[in-house]
Amino acid sequence: MQRYFVSLDKLNNIVFNQQDVFHITKVMRCRINDHIEVVINSDAFEAVIDSLSPLKIHLIGEKMRNNELKNDLVLFSPLLKSDKNELVIQKATELGVTKIVFFISSRSIIRLSQKDFDKKLDRYKLIVKEASEQCHRNMIPEIVGLLSLKEIAAHKANINLLAYEEESGKQNTIYKAFKSNSSISFIYGPEGGFDKKEIELLGSMGFSLVSLGKRILRAETASFYGLSIISSLMEEKNE
Ligand code: SAH
Repeated sequence: MQRYFVSLDKLNNIVFNQQDVFHITKVMRCRINDHIEVVINSDAFEAVIDSLSPLKIHLIGEKMRNNELKNDLVLFSPLLKSDKNELVIQKATELGVTKIVFFISSRSIIRLSQKDFDKKLDRYKLIVKEASEQCHRNMIPEIVGLLSLKEIAAHKANINLLAYEEESGKQNTIYKAFKSNSSISFIYGPEGGFDKKEIELLGSMGFSLVSLGKRILRAETASFYGLSIISSLMEEKNE
């Protein structure tokens, strides 16, 4: 069933945004009495369509299962080439992150001014919303940026993992660094990798080095690999 994030107006009426109205009526071609899922303030419900124009629904049944990870998961991402940022945002959302923080890295191939990043933000926000609906999340991850490496300190978690290519093949895996019931952040480097100075700075900020196995992964693969392991451990081990 398709899921939509909705809000409540002052009179507690359910309000859809215009894109969702279009999606429900024109793309999904929903009819009266069709069922959809709506998320109101992080609670998901099944709902029945009562009228299409204007779009009105009523909720049925109990609150649905909450599909969020039990602890916060933060991804620190460098800016990547072309549409890779959008891919990372979409997949990170599916893998359960609560926040994606973009940072400036000295070996990033892409350089954006804050103004140019802000221009991309609307599109990024649409991607997280659509991905959150598609994968049945209860909340939409936040996107933050563009920050310097020092500034990301404000978004750190209980455990902060730093994937460094020079650790490849070593024994310090994410499995070993994982602790249950803790918020976790994961940082990975751009196509050109991390500069030694950046690794030193992140170390002094409390990040712990982890290896992502023997092979050197492409930057975007590194983000999927790290987040997949962390979210599966969080689902398995967190109470
Ligand atoms: N150009 C670099 C590789 C960069 S890979 C080189 O040739 O060495 C991009 C990012 O992915 C790295 O900065 C690191 O964060 C992560 N990464 C890729 N493979 C990794 C591995 N085996 N272990 C730890 N981190 C890895």
